[in-house]
Amino acid sequence: MDFKEHVRVIENFPQEGIRFKDITTILKNGQVYHQVIDSIRDMVKHLEIDLIAGPEARGFVVGAPLAYAMGVGFIPIRKSGKLPGETIEANYSLEYGNDKLAMHNDAIQPGQKVLIADDLLATGGTIATSIDLVEQLGGKVVGAAFMIELTYLNGKDKLKDIDMFSLMQY
Ligand code: 5GP
Repeated sequence: MDFKEHVRVIENFPQEGIRFKDITTILKNGQVYHQVIDSIRDMVKHLEIDLIAGPEARGFVVGAPLAYAMGVGFIPIRKSGKLPGETIEANYSLEYGNDKLAMHNDAIQPGQKVLIADDLLATGGTIATSIDLVEQLGGKVVGAAFMIELTYLNGKDKLKDIDMFSLMQY
């Protein structure tokens, strides 16, 4: 299946000059969504994984079904102030804007192996902050998986030696 056929590119969103890759066109097609998740699972199934973490909001629609498919737990990474329990936080800057991400401080036990999942890798700010949160709790990031990688933004450099998997590249 050519997955790119199912990504809708929206010009000038959320800012002039940005070609936004809209994945809602994947999500609304049950067969395509299913195959996307299964294909990501196949790319990472050789890894030993205890947990999958995903940043809100689109990291949930990749990470949660992937966790279900792999039979492991899912950890939500959220914007500051959204999680009900005690949290740890880390700053991040996006392709557009900046903010803080948070995780429950008991989400990961030291030594647990974590895969981080998101819809798209752009500048790598979100994944770098997610790695920071996992590592603050003593977790080991064993990989990062994405539906889409924007290769021209070199977000991969932020991953250092962590294995990166992407289904589509632009
Ligand atoms: P980064 O932090 O790597 O610069 O940006 C990646 C984050 O921003 C991801 O969480 C992703 O959801 C969001 N993002 C940035 N650009 C796009 C885009 O073109 N399409 C989608 N679907 N998400 C994007």
